[in-house]
Amino acid sequence: MTERYALVGEDVSRSLSPVMMNSAFKERGVDAVYETVSVPPDTFPYRIKDLLASTSGMNITIPFKSQVIEYLDELDSVSSRIGAVNVVKRTGTKASGYNTDVNGIVASLREHGRERVRSALLVGAGGAARAFCEAMDELGCPEVLVVVRDPSRGESFISEMSGVFKGIRFGFSTLDRLRDVDVDLVFNATPIGSGGRELPEPLKRVIYGRSTVFDAVYRPTKTELLKTAELRGCTTISGYEMLLNQGVLAFEIWTGKSAPKEVMRQSLVRSLQSEADGS
Ligand code: NAP
Repeated sequence: MTERYALVGEDVSRSLSPVMMNSAFKERGVDAVYETVSVPPDTFPYRIKDLLASTSGMNITIPFKSQVIEYLDELDSVSSRIGAVNVVKRTGTKASGYNTDVNGIVASLREHGRERVRSALLVGAGGAARAFCEAMDELGCPEVLVVVRDPSRGESFISEMSGVFKGIRFGFSTLDRLRDVDVDLVFNATPIGSGGRELPEPLKRVIYGRSTVFDAVYRPTKTELLKTAELRGCTTISGYEMLLNQGVLAFEIWTGKSAPKEVMRQSLVRSLQSEADGS
């Protein structure tokens, strides 16, 4: 029987995950279909129970990465540490949670030659930001400055992350008060720049001369942040690389087979290109 996989989030109708995952299932001869399921937040508690019963696995996205945890039977060590799940696998009646966003970040940085990070500027304090903190722990980064728009959110985020990652010194700044900082990695974990929206001035200033700028946003592939960084000679990493690398690990968790990474990459690049061409 054809297995069913789904991406579950509040509004996932435009996601590229189905294109990427269905190309991988086809390439590896897995009889499965991957689809999007948009769920209004107030219906999540009962929809998730149906989805857990009717799918073999799910990707979970905004705003349910933490909320889903209470419906799962077990968590891997990473998702348990950061309190965010983006992959669910069902085995019989048991549902297990994982976080592959961390691999999306670490693998993309390694592909660009970054094995270690000296200090980082993290924009945002949501699910992707939590995955970034775990990634920085893996890459031995001792210092992370978190940029938020709401100071109380910044305080609670760094207090929680400091408790989990004892080897990282966290600080925070609001976006409007951000001044020159000396970091060798900038990571955008907010929707700033998605759909071609303009980059806030304070962020333009701090990317001057930085060595690596990584944007979790993948639409457009080259955001205003990445364009600016490129002009200033930085190494740039697009969110589509993160999407690909988190998807590779999700595929392997679900199927136990090695993921056809190049096929997945090509399907993503083709879709993004045809969107950019307006076709
Ligand atoms: P999330 O949990 O909802 O967190 C979003 C964060 O962005 C929050 O800290 C929020 O601040 C902040 N934010 C939202 N709008 C903002 C604005 N206009 N200015 C400044 N800050 C703003 O979302 P997430 O899961 O972390 O995702 C964040 C971004 O990463 C999204 O664009 C998502 O598509 C992308 N992402 C990409 C991948 C990938 O594979 N490429 C994977 C995961 C996420 P408040 O707390 O003040 O609301």
